[in-house]
Amino acid sequence: MSDYGKILVAIDLSEDSNRILQRARAVASSAAAQLHIIHVIEPLSFAYGGDIPMDFSGIQDEIYQQATQQLDRFAESHGIDKAHRHIVMGRPEVEIHALAEELQADLIVVGSHGRHGLALLMGSTANGVLHGAKRDVLAVRVGSPD
Ligand code: AMP
Repeated sequence: MSDYGKILVAIDLSEDSNRILQRARAVASSAAAQLHIIHVIEPLSFAYGGDIPMDFSGIQDEIYQQATQQLDRFAESHGIDKAHRHIVMGRPEVEIHALAEELQADLIVVGSHGRHGLALLMGSTANGVLHGAKRDVLAVRVGSPD
C-alpha cells in the first residue's frame, strides 16, 4: 500500500485536540503527507429545530467568530497554514466526509472516547465518521483511561 498523501484531522477544539493532532502529525511525517484540519459548527437550529421561535443568527455569528479564532490559534500553535484550515457549518460526520471527499484525503483522524453503556448506544462522532467511510480512519483514544 502506498503512503498517505493527505490527512484530514477532525478537531472539536476540546483539550483532546492537541493529542489527536500529535498522532496525526506522527503518521504524516513518516509518510510526508499534507495535514488539513476541520472544525464543524453545528447550527443551533439543529438542536432546537422549530421548537423555539427565535432568531439565532446573532448568536450563531458570534459562535462562528469565536470558533474561527480558536481554530486559528490552535492551527498557528501547530504550524498549520490558512489554506489547510477548514471551518464549516453542519453535522460533524457529514461535513468531515464531504471535505475528505473534496480534498481526496486518504486518511481521516478523529478522537474516540471509547464510550460504553448508554453513551455508546447514543453513538459518537467517531462512529459516525467510521460508518460508511470510503477511506481509512484513525480513531485516537482520548479522555480518561478506564
Ligand atoms: P465526540 O464523539 O463528539 O466525543 O467526538 C469525538 C471526536 O470527533 C473528536 O475528538 C473530534 O476528533 C471529532 N469531532 C467531534 N465534534 C467535532 C466537530 N464539531 N468538528 C470537528 N470534529 C469533531
